[in-house]
Amino acid sequence: MTFAATVLTLYPEMFPGPLGVSLAGRALREERWSLDTVQIRDFATDKHRSVDDTPAGGGAGMVLRADVLAAALDSVTDGRPVLAMTPRGKALTQERVRQLADGPGAIILCGRFEGFDERLFEARDIEPVAIGDYVLSGGEMGALVLLDACVRLLPGVMGAASSGIEESFESGLLEYPQYTRPYEWEGRVIPEVLRSGDHARIAAWRKARSESDTRLWRPDLWERHVDARVQSPSGAHKQDEGQKK
Ligand code: SAH
Repeated sequence: MTFAATVLTLYPEMFPGPLGVSLAGRALREERWSLDTVQIRDFATDKHRSVDDTPAGGGAGMVLRADVLAAALDSVTDGRPVLAMTPRGKALTQERVRQLADGPGAIILCGRFEGFDERLFEARDIEPVAIGDYVLSGGEMGALVLLDACVRLLPGVMGAASSGIEESFESGLLEYPQYTRPYEWEGRVIPEVLRSGDHARIAAWRKARSESDTRLWRPDLWERHVDARVQSPSGAHKQDEGQKK
């Protein structure tokens, strides 16, 4: 079974776009995943083919109509998860990406203008997804991001099967820093431990750097990681020992 993506958009010409090159592009040609687009405007019913209207209550911009979006969505709904790109959604995580990649695919709704009529989320089973705390001009880039993250996890897409496991976020931490030849560059050398061949020392160094970099750059992730450790039985035990001293 291949991962089937369907993207509902006003700009189908944006797809596959960057997903047509490199690993994702090769996987697309090898039919490890599929990508269809649906032009939302095809589901407009009035003679002007309008998909949007002015915001109720006033304000700038236009809002995508629930009736048109629902008709577009209903034309493709088949049990795959339906996600809508919106800054008001839950932030996308590696954990959710992995779940999606393990499933049959995704139907992704891309917003434009001021976004969607809220009633759409009440009337259909739709997961609102944000790709970060910033505002894009449309959901298409978000859909590309989400699909890229999923596709690289599909079987046979990445070269080394193991390279997905140790990465940033997979363990709740950022990945350790990487180095490659030349050994010396502009007077800087690769950390000696990485050249030692001592796998236990290398693993310990990587773990320590992963932890210190997460603490430094992503205190939010670090806090969650520490909380999770304290709540696990072994973590709770460690904390008790700490209190005895
Ligand atoms: N007025 C809206 C923003 C609309 S931006 C608000 O303030 O919440 C237009 C479209 O771009 C959105 O409908 C959505 O599909 C997409 N978009 C913008 N920022 C996004 C983000 N951080 N994550 C996912 N989609 C986003």
